[in-house]
Amino acid sequence: MKVPRVLVIGSINMDLVSYSDRIPSLGETILGNRFAMVPGGKGANQALAAARLGASVSMLGAAGKDSYGEQLLQHLNNNGVDISRVKRADTSTGVALINVDARGNNQIVVIPGANNELAPEDLLQNREIFEACDVVVLQMEIPMATIGQAIELASGYGKLVVLNPAPAHEIPEAWLSKIDYLVPNEHEADLLGHVKDDFYFSIRRHLKKSLVITQGAKGVSFSEGKTIVFIPALKVQAVDTTAAGDAFIGGFSVALAEDRSMEEAIKFASAAAAISVTREGAQTSLPYRKEVEEFSG
Ligand code: ATP
Repeated sequence: MKVPRVLVIGSINMDLVSYSDRIPSLGETILGNRFAMVPGGKGANQALAAARLGASVSMLGAAGKDSYGEQLLQHLNNNGVDISRVKRADTSTGVALINVDARGNNQIVVIPGANNELAPEDLLQNREIFEACDVVVLQMEIPMATIGQAIELASGYGKLVVLNPAPAHEIPEAWLSKIDYLVPNEHEADLLGHVKDDFYFSIRRHLKKSLVITQGAKGVSFSEGKTIVFIPALKVQAVDTTAAGDAFIGGFSVALAEDRSMEEAIKFASAAAAISVTREGAQTSLPYRKEVEEFSG
């Protein structure tokens, strides 16, 4: 079988997580219990997911010239993601500052930093990797103009375009006819629906191929012409659902790059996502291809 080639264009972040009994009030300083530094960013997560699932993955993104940038790129490289075209910007690497209390409530500040420096010109300078891939995967944690440029280039080269509209954001109508698969979760689909009353009909009609809505432990629905097909999730003991969506997108893109049918692609992606929810963490939970194949029998 040919090696699937996936290009991920998106965010690279370091999550800095503090665990304390409670979240401090305004102006207050408290002692916490534990600290963790965890690689993240939806772009990096999805790139790593696709690489573990057997694809040849290139990433276009931006990281700062600081130590977080170094560590994150090293980590992606160690996981088989080609980071040779990641831009090094003169600003801080993207970080998420996360406070978690004893009940699991959290408070998060995201500083996009370098992620905001990935410009349309950076993509134009790297046209040849668009040409050299099968599927282009995008999320919404980089500038809108850059996403628009990516969609333009990818569709111009006749590549499959997968857009995961997370975090939820209004999608310019002009993009729709160049996107093959729009893959929101239920919450994002609802928010997009509020922006556009006739979301389900209108968006589906404009997309090149399908609107795929992930629905957590329930499963996934996707449009096929005028009909909606539902594929239930696999039954597993969920421990931590962080990055389930990223595992799904990674798996879905790899299967599409292998020219698998829609139903096969959703099943492969659902198996990868189901395994990820049985494990703690974000990138740590993302499975390898062998595990998905064994799990799916
Ligand atoms: P997250 O933000 O937690 O990364 P998400 O909200 O983007 O995830 P979900 O729709 O919650 O996305 O989950 C993505 C896919 O993961 C689902 O469609 C399903 O295939 C799988 N999944 C999620 N939760 C479970 C679960 N409890 N059991 C089995 N599969 C699950």
